[in-house]
Amino acid sequence: MGGCVRDTLLGLAPHDWDVCTNAAPPKVMECFRGERVIETGLKHGTVTVVAGGKPVEVTTFRVDGAYSDHRRPDKVAFTASLREDLARRDFTINAMAMTPGGEIIDCFGGQNDLRAGLLRCVGSPAGRFEEDALRILRALRFASRFGLAIEGKTAAALLEKRGLLAYVAAERVLHELCGMRFGQVDPRFLPVLRTVIPELTGIQVPKNLAAEPTLQLAALLRGLDARAILTRLKASRALTERVALLAAAVGAPVQDSGVEIRRLLRDMGPEAAEQLLALQNNKTALQTLRGVLVRGECYSLKMLAVSGDDLAAQGLAGREIGEALEGLLDKVIGGTLANEREALLMALDDS
Ligand code: ATP
Ligand code: MG
Repeated sequence: MGGCVRDTLLGLAPHDWDVCTNAAPPKVMECFRGERVIETGLKHGTVTVVAGGKPVEVTTFRVDGAYSDHRRPDKVAFTASLREDLARRDFTINAMAMTPGGEIIDCFGGQNDLRAGLLRCVGSPAGRFEEDALRILRALRFASRFGLAIEGKTAAALLEKRGLLAYVAAERVLHELCGMRFGQVDPRFLPVLRTVIPELTGIQVPKNLAAEPTLQLAALLRGLDARAILTRLKASRALTERVALLAAAVGAPVQDSGVEIRRLLRDMGPEAAEQLLALQNNKTALQTLRGVLVRGECYSLKMLAVSGDDLAAQGLAGREIGEALEGLLDKVIGGTLANEREALLMALDDS
């Protein structure tokens, strides 16, 4: 159902299967008596059946009632018609079902669109975006992720209705942004992105940059106040700080030398350093970085072959200890001092 059928036709492994049925929820629960059944969203017709240790969501065919808040239907009703259920889905490629025998039910031309590489709304695009404005961002997410062009009327409606994104909660906006490959977003949809990030002046993200939210956002927000933007979008502290660090650093190329790479590792740690080099598409420096890590070369105080206690035993106290350790680390990183206890203690006497 929905995304799983699409992913299967694209040759991707769906992360989970959504199962749909014309049976009303009580009937579904009766069918799975003896299995573990969780009443996930009974009102919306969803029960979770734990089959063979794996949870599977089983949802009764639904039709959505009127939408008054541009975000979710006021009420939903069950239906016995699969076609009606598929009709409420956002895009034709998401509106296909598969029978247990593997037959594809495709009432809205999803297979054709998938083959033609087109993202198209089910029904009138403007109306569908008015019902639920989140679909505007979902369109950019699916199109950019699967390399689809956006069909003409759908594209026009995206632009025309973009103001309705004001009704969508920041968390939902962020979730969609985190699934996009901005380098694959057609620049004519910049105004859509600008409704959620007004600071954007363009989209300068490499087309083939990995689909990793941290990298994608850092590339998109390069040169902007990423911290302010992500705080406004209610991103986690960790994501905000990492993206802000990378967005600020990406403009300054890193030299491919052991010394520079060890300095980078000291300053931002292995994960962020690797992300920065990926963002800069600096393949040779990435090789160097991996070499430094594999060989276990020293780049942090923790890795230094002497500790604060050793220095205290040498008669140093208070701030002197930290400063001396930093000085030693600097020389080790610079390659002028070996990271060996004897050598380090001796260097201490020299300075
Ligand atoms: P993903 O791989 O991102 O999970 P998906 O297609 O499974 O993609 P979901 O958000 O998990 O997307 O939704 C499952 C299905 O429910 C969709 O394929 C679509 O048919 C339908 N759907 C989800 N959200 C909406 C929406 N806002 N409007 C209409 N249909 C929707
Ligand atoms: Mg899904």
